[in-house]
Amino acid sequence: MIASARRLVEVGTALRSARRLGANDRLDRGSYRRMRRARLLSIIRHAARESPFYRERLAGLALDDSLDIAAVPTLDKATLLESFDRIVCDPALTLARLEAHLGELERREGEDVLLDGEYRVMASGGTSGRRGIFVYGRADWSLVLGGLLRWTGDYLGLPPRLPRRRLAAVVADSPLHMTARMGRGVDVGAHRMLRLDARAPLGTVVAALNDFRPEALTAYASIAALLADEQIAGRLRIEPATVATTSEVCGAEMRERIEAAWGRVPFNGYAATETGMLATDCDRHRGLHVLEDLVHVEVVDEAGRAVAAGSPGAKLLVTNLVNRTQPLIRFELDDLVTISPARCPCGRPSVLLAAVDGRSDDILTLPGRSGGTVPIHPLTLRGPLAAVSGLRQYRLVHEPGGVTIEVVAAAAAADVAETARRAVIDALRSSGAAVPPVAAVAVDAIERHPGSGKAKVVLSRDA
Ligand SMILES: [Zn+2]
Repeated sequence: MIASARRLVEVGTALRSARRLGANDRLDRGSYRRMRRARLLSIIRHAARESPFYRERLAGLALDDSLDIAAVPTLDKATLLESFDRIVCDPALTLARLEAHLGELERREGEDVLLDGEYRVMASGGTSGRRGIFVYGRADWSLVLGGLLRWTGDYLGLPPRLPRRRLAAVVADSPLHMTARMGRGVDVGAHRMLRLDARAPLGTVVAALNDFRPEALTAYASIAALLADEQIAGRLRIEPATVATTSEVCGAEMRERIEAAWGRVPFNGYAATETGMLATDCDRHRGLHVLEDLVHVEVVDEAGRAVAAGSPGAKLLVTNLVNRTQPLIRFELDDLVTISPARCPCGRPSVLLAAVDGRSDDILTLPGRSGGTVPIHPLTLRGPLAAVSGLRQYRLVHEPGGVTIEVVAAAAAADVAETARRAVIDALRSSGAAVPPVAAVAVDAIERHPGSGKAKVVLSRDA
């Protein structure tokens, strides 16, 4: 009761944030540019004032209109974790405490528990399999939720109304994940949300969706494509007016299946635990509008040099403009994106991403216990592995003889490989797979893909 009353207040605040953010999308380009520059300088100055790490790092730079953002050092995930306690702006938020809190969250699945009544802590496996830890204060969070509500309201055309709309989301349902926390955040007061766990058996998801009859469906691209197959086969019978995919690359083949199933061009929302909503397409579907009032993005090559619009980058540097608890300035994401040289005819002043190419994880296909095959969504493993304390990076190698999990552990952590191995076995078993032999091996680093330079989370050698 207390938690839902709190969420009701938070949704009210978030709705006001969403309206203010919506007004940014109606600015002319010059005003928009000035607005985002002011936000960027504001967060950098805040970090220099409140974070010991940034105070040192930004010393000597003039934090005024003359600042060239390229002069600010970038931040990678290893440094984020090594310097965690000095990066955050509240000294009570130590990495050790947050790790312990995440362990507690995992045991209390389904609850939106705040640390110290103030902080939401989340973990991200990320595309590279490396676990990052992110913390948002309540004021930061109301802007994250505002960004989500602007997305559903302004971009997907689903503003809150009474009676509340029925929105179904088949995404992460672990409180460790941003999408799950956002979903919990808006299902009081804004929308009636059915959250289904992407790790659940497909038949369970289909039955629940048939009962709920959602007006809008949001799902990881790979799940949306599987559900489209179910709709075409006649087992799923829903008529969503809006379909949106998130978090994974939605390939042309997937988009076609979704259109064939529901007769709608799917929207594509791009969000990250590091940033909240990062980009989305509008109803013109000409590319993904970067939500530049929430996040500053830079597309760079391997050497960190800016890449021109139209050329794919090797890394994405993000500066979170709303998180004042754990400032992330020029934080490196492995995502491979291309900025579009074109502007959207809808008139919004933000730049477009032409493509997001690097977020598709592999689906592991294993024999099912009751025959056939079972597709194991990366999230099935990502969630449990994100909860393994001391696990820094992992990769699953699937070969004819079984599955090997390669584990990179934090220096001081013990038994990480064995804990990770057991987590994999449990996750595969609960997905209905006939579990093959699973081995765990500790490694110093995960081998990167020779072509893309990406460290894949799943490598299948038996396909
Ligand atoms: Zn547009």
